Amino acid sequence: MNGEQPATTVTRSAAAPLVLLAEDDKGMRRYLRATLSDQRLRVVETESGAEALAQAAAHNPDLILLDLGLPDMDGIHVTTKLREWTAAPILIISARDEEIEKVAALDAGANDFLTKPFGTGEFLARVRVWLRHTQRASSDSTSSVLAVGDLRIDFARRVASVAGREVRLTPTQYKLLATMMRNAGKVLTHEQILFAVWGPAYTRETQYLRVYMGQLRQKLEADPARPRYFVTEPGIGYRLREG
Ligand code: CA
Repeated sequence: MNGEQPATTVTRSAAAPLVLLAEDDKGMRRYLRATLSDQRLRVVETESGAEALAQAAAHNPDLILLDLGLPDMDGIHVTTKLREWTAAPILIISARDEEIEKVAALDAGANDFLTKPFGTGEFLARVRVWLRHTQRASSDSTSSVLAVGDLRIDFARRVASVAGREVRLTPTQYKLLATMMRNAGKVLTHEQILFAVWGPAYTRETQYLRVYMGQLRQKLEADPARPRYFVTEPGIGYRLREG
C-alpha cells in the first residue's frame, strides 16, 4: 500500500465498514489508509474540509476520522456541518497545540480525539470501539437498558446497578450517570455534561461536576481513587470507559 493513489478513492469490498479519512498531510494519510486497509476496512480519503463534507454525504461512512488542521476549513466547522445530518462517530486527529480547538470540536459533537503522534495499536483500538458503536446503534436503538462492563442502567425503571447490585442514587447522581451511560466511550466536555445535567445556566460550574463525579465513583467504582469507568480527561472533561 505504499504506491501513490489519487485522493478520494474507495478501496476494499462493499461489505466492510467504511471509514472517511480527512487529512491533508500526505504521509499521515498514506499511513492511516494503509493501517485501515490492513484491517479490511474500506477507506474514502480526502484532503480538505469541503471535500470531506461532500464525501460524507455521498458515502454515509460508519466512522469519520477528521484532522483538525485542514487547509480550507477548521475541524470545528466541519464537525458542526456533519452533525446537522449524521450521527456517525467523529474521531478527531489533532496536533498538540490544538487543545482549545479540540475542546470546541468535542462541544460541536465530535466523539473522541487522538493527539499526534499516536501508535498504531492505540489508533486501531479507538477505531474498533467506534465501529462497534455504529453497529450497536443500528441494532438496539430502542432498548431501555444500557450496560457498560458491570454498570447497568434501566431507564424505564430508573434503576442503576453495579455487578447485579442495585445502587441508590439521588436524582442528580442518576441524571449524571444516565448522561455518561448514553455517551459511553465518548469524551464529554465539562460544558456538555453541565448543560445536560444541570442546564444552560450552569455550564461554568465545574466544581459541581467534580463533586458529583466523586460521588458516582464512590458508589459505583471498586476503587474510587483509581476509577475503571469514570475517567478524567485533564483540561477537557470525562469519559465513561467501556473496557
Ligand atoms: Ca493538517
